[in-house]
Amino acid sequence: MDNRVFTDRKVLVTAGASGIGRAIALAFLDAGYRVHVCDLDAGALAELRRDAPDIMTAVTDVSDPEAVAELFRVVALAPGRFDVLVNNAGIAGPTAPVEEVETEAWRQTLAVNLDGAFYCARAASPLLKADGGSIINIASNAALFGFPNRLPYTVSKWGLIGFTKTLAMELGPEGIRVNALCPGSVSGPRIDGVIERDAGERGLTVEKVRQEYARQSSMRSFVSADDIAAMALFLASDAGAKISGQAIA
Ligand code: NAD
Repeated sequence: MDNRVFTDRKVLVTAGASGIGRAIALAFLDAGYRVHVCDLDAGALAELRRDAPDIMTAVTDVSDPEAVAELFRVVALAPGRFDVLVNNAGIAGPTAPVEEVETEAWRQTLAVNLDGAFYCARAASPLLKADGGSIINIASNAALFGFPNRLPYTVSKWGLIGFTKTLAMELGPEGIRVNALCPGSVSGPRIDGVIERDAGERGLTVEKVRQEYARQSSMRSFVSADDIAAMALFLASDAGAKISGQAIA
């Protein structure tokens, strides 16, 4: 049975060539959206196109305002009405005590995680104003608590919550909804790297730190990229039509 129902709607997923973004892109494709994905990694984009030839891809660094403007010129001209921006791009940044955080690492983390979301929302807003739609920002549970030794990342994700709440109020009258998802630990190579670096920084075993991370969740488990994708799809769907300004853990 073909469950594709949104055939005229376009979605752009940033950093969608791998990880959570890829799962989101595939979930929207499965729901019948016209899916655009940008990413830094040309090889991973080519692999995505091999697996899902209907997805349109572009090599774009979201921290580069000119590149983002060019990306949106292309997406705007493509068939379909622009319905959803998923600001998924985000780097882990350094794991280090504050006195060891390099200026460049601080700036780079904010440039990708926060400036990139701003450049994309700025370009998406006129497209969304035409027919309504929504912006989904992939924040983190690091946006809900303090996170020692992850200062740039935590600050960038708390910034995304202010960004979400402000844009929800600013764009709400135009029928545009803005929400944030705040995943805890998502299974995959990225969280494995974070745990290894955290364990090294604190002189603990990887297994001990992994258990600590799992205990941060009420269900004592990591979520999957597909869980996040399902929530993004729900927020974009008519079932989520009255949800805006929320940061969903
Ligand atoms: P990931 O590290 O697997 O990277 C996904 C993609 O981002 C890669 O394909 C990479 O090429 C791309 N990318 C990196 N910098 C980019 C840039 N400047 N412009 C465009 N693309 C870029 O990421 P992930 O684990 O899938 O995380 C996705 C989002 O979810 C991030 O915002 C992350 O902070 C957030 N998040 C992840 C977890 C987790 O446990 N993985 C938990 C909470 C929140």
